[in-house]
Order: sequence, then C-alpha cells, then structure tokens
Amino acid sequence: MDYTFARQKMVEEQIIRRGIKDPNVIRAFFKVPRHLFVEEALQAQAYSDYPLPIGEKQTISQPYIVALMTEALLLKQDDKVLEIGTGSGYQTAILAEIARYVYTVERIKSLSLRARKILEQLGYYNIFYKIDDGTLGWKEEAPFDAIIVTAGAPKIPDALKQQLKEDGRLVIPVGDDFSQDLLRIIRKKGKFFKENLGGCRFVRLIGKQGWKEESF
Ligand code: SAH
Repeated sequence: MDYTFARQKMVEEQIIRRGIKDPNVIRAFFKVPRHLFVEEALQAQAYSDYPLPIGEKQTISQPYIVALMTEALLLKQDDKVLEIGTGSGYQTAILAEIARYVYTVERIKSLSLRARKILEQLGYYNIFYKIDDGTLGWKEEAPFDAIIVTAGAPKIPDALKQQLKEDGRLVIPVGDDFSQDLLRIIRKKGKFFKENLGGCRFVRLIGKQGWKEESF
C-alpha cells in the first residue's frame, strides 16, 4: 500500500475540501504518518474518513475532527500546549509539528507508553508525557497557550480553564455519551468567552472533573 499517496488524498479530500485553511495544520497532516499510530491489521484503513479502535476500548479520532480541533486552537509557533487524552499519539504528533512544546496526559498507562514509543521513534523531542487524570490539568507546567481535550466531558473542568494563559484557548467536547458540542473557550482579561463549533462524538473523559466511570 502506498501510504504517501493515501495520506495526500486524505488531506485533499477530507481536510482541505472541507474547509481547513491553517497552512501549518495542513502541512502537519501531509507529514505525520497516521498509519503508524494504529495496529498493523488496521493500517490500510488509517487514512479513511472514520475513527479506528486503538485498544482499551478507546479510539483514534477521525482525521477531519483532529484537523478541526487543531485549527480551532489558533496555534502559533512559540506556543506551549496541553493535550488531555494522548490515546494513539497521532493528535500529539500533529500538535508537536506546529507548537513549541506539547504536554500530554493519558490515564491509561499502556496507551501512553505505546504512543511515547512511536513518537520517540519518529523523532519528536518537544513532547512531555504524564500518566494521570488529565481533568486536573498539569499544574506544575501551567499556564498554557492552548489546551485540547480529546475525550467527551460532562462539563468544562474548572482546573483546565484556570490553567489557560491570557488569550489562551481551550477546545473540548462537552455533552452526554451520544453527542457532544465541540466548545472553544478563550480567556480574555480574566473572563472566559465560549463558542460552539458544532457536534461531535468522543469516548468519555474519566476523572475527578469528568465522568466517574466508563460508559456501558
Ligand atoms: N487524541 C487521541 C484520542 C484518543 S481517545 C487519538 O486520536 O488517538 C481519548 C483518550 O482520552 C483515551 O485514550 C482515554 O484513555 C483518554 N482519557 C479519558 N479520560 C482521561 C483523563 N481524565 N485524563 C487523561 N486521559 C483521559
């Protein structure tokens, strides 16, 4: 299978054609080898227009959703970013291509370790990993220019809002198990401004300021 060709087709048909414009986001999508973030049996599907299982009942998000959320973060080259839900590490790689530093938190140890191994093999040295409950953020490293949560929350965790810099952006899906609204919160002069970017569906964000346990 020609993964480079599949990747180019994905970027053109799923990312650019659907309105993603940030040149840094598009460049990152052309570069990051998404097929390496799924198990071998699924690699031929890695550039398809849907999420895929990554074990532990979790999923790697659909390419377009990763692009939409990344663009919504309004990233600049010098930014320090916090990601909650490392999962496969694919979104982490996209962030690491664009921003200066990426701090990523995952509650499931096996997923964190596997993502780290791939990301290190690919040569990303601007990523810092933690196995923990990300609903509390990463206090020692706060504040952040941008925070992305890649699991669905019942409400916006206050800890994450508090760890945003002035002009910082938080992108998070909020809702129930079946559908969530993708929200962007921007901190300006101590106030928080909220926008709804549309519907989406993620696995549960589980933790002190998330859901209490896994669904079903
Ligand atoms: N961005 C990832 C998405 C993985 S799915 C990817 O595209 O591969 C969401 C991930 O969030 C899962 O790996 C899940 O274990 C993790 N997660 C759920 N609640 C969490 C929490 N409180 N802290 C950190 N990670 C959490």
